[in-house]
Amino acid sequence: MQIIKTVKEVQDISRWFRGECKSIGLVPTMGALHEGHLSLVRRSIGENDRTIVSIFVNPAQFGPNEDLQKYPRDTEGDLSKLSELQADVVFMPETEEMYPEGFSTSIDIGPIGKLLCGASRPGHFNAVATVVAKFLNIAIPHRMYLGQKDFQQTVVIKKMARELNFDTNIIVSPTVRENDGLAMSSRNAYLSGEERKASSILYKALKLGQEIIMSNGLDDLSAVKKEMEALIRSEPLAKIDYVKVVDPYNLEPVQRVLFAAVICVAVRIGNTRLIDNIIIEKN
Ligand code: AMP
Repeated sequence: MQIIKTVKEVQDISRWFRGECKSIGLVPTMGALHEGHLSLVRRSIGENDRTIVSIFVNPAQFGPNEDLQKYPRDTEGDLSKLSELQADVVFMPETEEMYPEGFSTSIDIGPIGKLLCGASRPGHFNAVATVVAKFLNIAIPHRMYLGQKDFQQTVVIKKMARELNFDTNIIVSPTVRENDGLAMSSRNAYLSGEERKASSILYKALKLGQEIIMSNGLDDLSAVKKEMEALIRSEPLAKIDYVKVVDPYNLEPVQRVLFAAVICVAVRIGNTRLIDNIIIEKN
C-alpha cells in the first residue's frame, strides 16, 4: 500500500494504472475510519483492479462554528485498517496541497445545496462538490464510492459529476449500522454513554415512518412526519433539526409517495448533530 501526500504523485500513479488497463476505484473519506467507510473500500477492491482511498478533513466544508478542530483523527488506525484490506493507494494531502495560497475556485451546485442540511450549513455542499471535483481530477477513477448515509451529498455529487461531465461512475452503497440501528459515523465518537443510547431514536423514527407509509399507503405525509417527530421528542436528549420526506432526485419535499421517496432526519443529541435517512420504494 502506497501512502502519498502530493497531487502529482497520485495523478502519475493513476495515469500509470490506466496505461496498464487497470480499473480504478476511489473512496473519498475524512478519516477516523469505521465499518461504514471500510464497506466502501471493500466494495471498491471487489469491483476494481486498483483502489485509492483519500483521507482529507476538508476545512472548506466546515462552518465557522462547526467541529473542524475537534473532528476525530486517527491516522495510525486508518492506515492499519486500510493496509489490512489491501487498499493500493492512500492519498493523505496536507491542506496546503489541496488549497495552495491564493486558491479561490469553487463550484456552485445551485439551490439543491440549500435544502435539508444546506439550510443550516451554508456553503457546505459547494465546498463538498469542489473538493470532490478535485479528487476526481487527481485520482481519475472509473468508479467512486459514496455512502447512502449522506444522502444529500450523494445527490449533489452525482449532479456535479453529471453536469461537469466527469467520466466516473458514482456508486452509492448502503448505510452500515450499529446493532441498535445507529448509522456509523466518525462523529458518533463525540457521544457520551447516555447520548449514545439516546441516538438510536433516529433509526427508530425512520423505521416508524417507513412502516406507516408502507402499511397504509398514507397520502398525508404531514401525519407521518408528526408521528416521527413525536417519537423523537419522546427522547429528552434529542432536538430535531429537520424531519423531511423528499424526492430522491431533487430533494424537494413531496406530498405523497408515488414510487419512491427518502425520509431524511437531522437531530442534535446533546451537542452532536446526527443525520440519517431511509429510502422508501413502493411497487
Ligand atoms: P466521511 O469520512 O464521513 O466524509 O465519509 C466518507 C464516505 O463514507 C462518505 O461517502 C460517507 O457517506 C461514507 N459513510 C460514512 N458513514 C457511513 C456508513 N455508516 N455507512 C456507509 N457509508 C458511510
